[in-house]
Amino acid sequence: MYSSIFSKKISVLLVISSVSTLLLSGACSKSGSINTLNPQPALPVGAQRPEVAAAALINDMSNPKIPDTTIADTSEPEPLNTGAVEEAAFTETLDRILKRAGIPEDMSRRVLIKAAAGPSFILDLLAVMEGDPYLRLLVDKQHPLPDRYAPDDLVELGGRASYQVNRSGLLLRRAAEEALEEMATAAKAEGITLTASSAYRSYDYQIEVYARNVRQMGQAAADRESARPGYSQHQTGLVVDFGSIDDSFAETRAGRWMTANAGRFGWSLSFPYGYEAVTGYRWESWHYRYVGRELSFFIGAYFDDIQQYALQFIREWERSNGQ
Ligand SMILES: [Zn+2]
Repeated sequence: MYSSIFSKKISVLLVISSVSTLLLSGACSKSGSINTLNPQPALPVGAQRPEVAAAALINDMSNPKIPDTTIADTSEPEPLNTGAVEEAAFTETLDRILKRAGIPEDMSRRVLIKAAAGPSFILDLLAVMEGDPYLRLLVDKQHPLPDRYAPDDLVELGGRASYQVNRSGLLLRRAAEEALEEMATAAKAEGITLTASSAYRSYDYQIEVYARNVRQMGQAAADRESARPGYSQHQTGLVVDFGSIDDSFAETRAGRWMTANAGRFGWSLSFPYGYEAVTGYRWESWHYRYVGRELSFFIGAYFDDIQQYALQFIREWERSNGQ
């Protein structure tokens, strides 16, 4: 039964992701900044809200190309297994997107198996797509933020009993700060204090950071551990560097606690050990990006906790909509 809703679910997702893309690009071209934490963000003129578009699609039961098995006469055997046809089309689409996203073959195979096993994959992906587009935006060495992007809901860290800051003036987007507070409160209950050492970096500040690194360590080494302006995850206002900002953090109590628990609070390690060829950065045990609970779950459930792969997949999924 669920397979017969595959094509509709795909259509719904494609519409939602296309509207999200529209939101993102429209907002960026307007002002270069967007308050995406608003659960009902303003839509470009003429655009439909995703849920409206989704409802319209669900109501459209008269797709002439693919007969709907839910309205078929069940007293007669179906001449064609349309559910299987739809499922095969879905698997083919998904396979193509995974390939375009550069997901390794064995991981792709496992995603396809999970996606074929039931509707969970689609529903989990849908939950991700309903969130703030910046939470899932791929920002790496090939994919910069919108030109001179600056979030407009930054709040200063500190003034909370749950976590410490190693200097004043650290900023995060409001939702990320709240998620930090929540995570740090849980850590505190186990006697562990989390310390934020670096957070939001503006485009202009990243110019300084990168130039200083190039001066001190040379171009190649600077590129291994710092981003060029416009390409830093820190510019999203969703990232915290914790503790010492060096490899020793991994073996501290806070570091180990974060490894085990950060995902539960919507935080994801961006540059894991052994993935420099994939992420472009050496292992950074201290650098966590707030992606929200839905996406951190999605990254763990389908992409072995490798944020980079999940974001590459989501980017291709959004790009392929309507095709
Ligand atoms: Zn960092």
